[in-house]
Amino acid sequence: MLSIDGAQHRDLRTGRAPWASGRRPTRRTLKQDRRCDVLVVGAGITGALAAERLVREGRDVCIVDRERPGLGSTAASTAMLLWEIDRPLAGLTDLYGFERAARLYRLSLQAVRGLQSLVEQREIACRMRARHSLYLAAGTTDAHALMKEHELRGRAGLPGHFLDYRTLHHQFGIDREAALLSSGAADADPLCLAHGLLARAVEGGGHLFDADAVHYDVSGRRTAVLMDDGHSIEADWVVLATGYVMPDFVASEIHRVTTTWAVATPPQPRRGRWRGGALIWEATEHYLDLRTTDDHRIVVGGGDDETINEPDARANATPGKSQFLLAGLRRLFPDIEPCAETAWSGVFGTTADGLPLIGPVPGHPRILAAYGYGGNGITFGFLAAELIAGVIGGRRAAWYDDFPVGRPMPPALK
Ligand SMILES: Cc1cc2nc3c(=O)[nH]c(=O)nc-3n(C[C@H](O)[C@H](O)[C@H](O)COP(=O)(O)OP(=O)(O)OC[C@H]3O[C@@H](n4cnc5c(N)ncnc54)[C@H](O)[C@@H]3O)c2cc1C
Repeated sequence: MLSIDGAQHRDLRTGRAPWASGRRPTRRTLKQDRRCDVLVVGAGITGALAAERLVREGRDVCIVDRERPGLGSTAASTAMLLWEIDRPLAGLTDLYGFERAARLYRLSLQAVRGLQSLVEQREIACRMRARHSLYLAAGTTDAHALMKEHELRGRAGLPGHFLDYRTLHHQFGIDREAALLSSGAADADPLCLAHGLLARAVEGGGHLFDADAVHYDVSGRRTAVLMDDGHSIEADWVVLATGYVMPDFVASEIHRVTTTWAVATPPQPRRGRWRGGALIWEATEHYLDLRTTDDHRIVVGGGDDETINEPDARANATPGKSQFLLAGLRRLFPDIEPCAETAWSGVFGTTADGLPLIGPVPGHPRILAAYGYGGNGITFGFLAAELIAGVIGGRRAAWYDDFPVGRPMPPALK
């Protein structure tokens, strides 16, 4: 299932994100039934991170994907690797208390660092760059609310500066009440990252197959996963990394599916670049996020819509959403001539509380799931790989209980 639509807009050259595919991992056909320690279902960024990690820990790992690896949500991602979670620290504190919220934010910060060192150590060519992030006042989140968020972050030991109107305007030329400027973020080419990780997993002895997992038989000691071609893979552990498509037996009352859009401009002249290529995002539900690429394009994402899910409807909405994104870019940087060279949309899973669903599937302790990432998909994917490798290796992370798959809707959100 390709989640990238072809853009219909006449100004747009293609409907693809501007990511290179890197070194495509070799997939094989499953010619016989197999057995392994761990079967990873799904070869997007989550499956790739989990497989690389598990192979490195000496497990016998099979990975299956029914499409070309990486071409789910991962290829559509704008790959801003933020440690700031979709729900602000103040909002997460309201839901789960300060101690837990602060711990989760620190964990997310460590995850971005961990991802950067993994890429460096495993020499994965994915154009990863350390970045600052710039979180802009928007909607009801005014300068006062941002200052409160800044103070809370300081209490939690998180990095960042409060920029008032004058400083923000002076440093970035942006006309907004205030912003938080923080270190510790990064960006990358998501497809190269996923492909590079899968290549490392395969080099280390992992097996990547072209197969569609259609049935999970949990009656024995091992789980037998039946593929659509009739073959099966029996595994001690199964990792579900199927993106926004969850098998029926994984139920979550807080999970939902959202479509989002993005455009990429042609390479920009110097006047169209902002300080340090910071990752820019807005403190509003109808947010916009902006990053640059190493060839000086601007990628603008946003326009999330939970009501548009069918491929045709997504494609039809793309011209209007592209205009919305370009208008947002123009408002922030009036000197930039907004023009989209490519536009695309993608679907991803998200949750009501902004936290992912990572851990054993209720009732199936040997089936481990990683879903509902929201806008922090790649950061949370790294945490998922760590938690999953820990569970399989008999090590229970201190934060094991923080993202339970079956958690109920927090009362405050009902
Ligand atoms: C436009 C857009 C912008 C985004 N921007 C960001 C961002 O800036 N930063 C960020 O961190 N995140 C971002 N995200 C979210 C992030 O991209 C996703 O959370 C992440 O890519 C999810 O990866 P995944 O591997 O879990 O899922 P996917 O990439 O969707 O991979 C799942 C794989 O499972 C396979 N599969 C499904 N069912 C089966 C089956 N039954 N058998 C075999 N294979 C199966 C699919 O074919 C697919 O390849 C964005 C997403 C979109 C769409």
